[in-house]
Amino acid sequence: MMTNNPKGLYIHIPFCRSKCPYCDFFSMAVPQADDNDMFLMYAGTVLQWIERIDPKHLPVSSVYFGGGTPTRLRPETYFHIIDHIDHTDDCEITLECNPYDLAYYWNPDGLRQLVDVGLNRISMGMQSVVDSERKALGRRATAEDIKKAIGLVRYVGIENLSLDLMLGIPDQTIDSLKRSIDFCAENGAKHVSCYMLKIEPGTPFHKIEQQLNLPDEDECCDIYLATCELLDEYGYKQYEISNFAKPGFESRHNLLYWDCREYIGIGPGAHSFLDGKRFYYERDILDFINSRRPVYDGEGGSFEEYVMLRLRLTEGLRNSLVNERFGFDIPKDMFDRARVFEKEGLTVVDDESIHMTPKGFLLSNTIIAKILD
Ligand code: SF4
Repeated sequence: MMTNNPKGLYIHIPFCRSKCPYCDFFSMAVPQADDNDMFLMYAGTVLQWIERIDPKHLPVSSVYFGGGTPTRLRPETYFHIIDHIDHTDDCEITLECNPYDLAYYWNPDGLRQLVDVGLNRISMGMQSVVDSERKALGRRATAEDIKKAIGLVRYVGIENLSLDLMLGIPDQTIDSLKRSIDFCAENGAKHVSCYMLKIEPGTPFHKIEQQLNLPDEDECCDIYLATCELLDEYGYKQYEISNFAKPGFESRHNLLYWDCREYIGIGPGAHSFLDGKRFYYERDILDFINSRRPVYDGEGGSFEEYVMLRLRLTEGLRNSLVNERFGFDIPKDMFDRARVFEKEGLTVVDDESIHMTPKGFLLSNTIIAKILD
């Protein structure tokens, strides 16, 4: 069944086996072999919130289990959750996976059962295929483990595989980046997400930043532009600042965010945008388990917000879409301000649209602020 106003459902799984030294996502390290009581309570709360979704927002057209590390929990947990969700027949259902968990803790039967209830996309946190780079990031899996994990994904018949790459990591060079990109292509990834490492205050990396052999700002720019080029050579089209896909494999769930569409988020730290209003859950697992309600976070969906999100996409801002949605054209002075950057090869502007080039994406915050000025 299709809905006219499809919504995405994001479910946050805030558990990891250990904390990576650069990470400031909301997650809790649960290193024991298993901590089933807490996981069961958590999954039970997720199910309660799923049952409370207003039927007018259903069925959802995409489901995304993100983390944290969703594969820290057992496959059966997701079987029950997916089974409870009212989703469209062609719903995109993504599970973020840690390759080490897939290689050593999950088995084909568990994953296959999830495919039977609708799981059809895997997003794997690979970061790099170079073992020394992965080790520097505190990741346990080796390139062989990643291959094993991909083998499992293929074995259960999931074609839609996304691999995450991290850019600007200690000791990374364009040559080592190329090895990771070659690996993505050779192992049949349909989608690649590339995130620049940011050293966040409060993380272990922040304390030892000077000792990490990090590429400098110019080198990071070169690494980003090389990523865009190398992925393009393999047929991965850039469709967003950090995302590249073979045709037809763009992430439907994430496109809802960048098109400023509504979505439901469940879990501590998760955000929702529903009926024009934004909400979030406090970043507190016990609060969430005790069924604390989401906090109101103001109105959403303004033209400015739409512009900020759409300009992250390579498709950019299109007059026809703006008119359809807001009932007016893109203001002329916005075109004029965007044209200023065209001379430097940062934007492309015609009568109908404004979009940024890969070089422009490197300065996206500044350019978007100026276009909105
Ligand atoms: S696995 Fe992901 S969420 Fe967990 S600590 Fe590492 S980077 Fe953060």
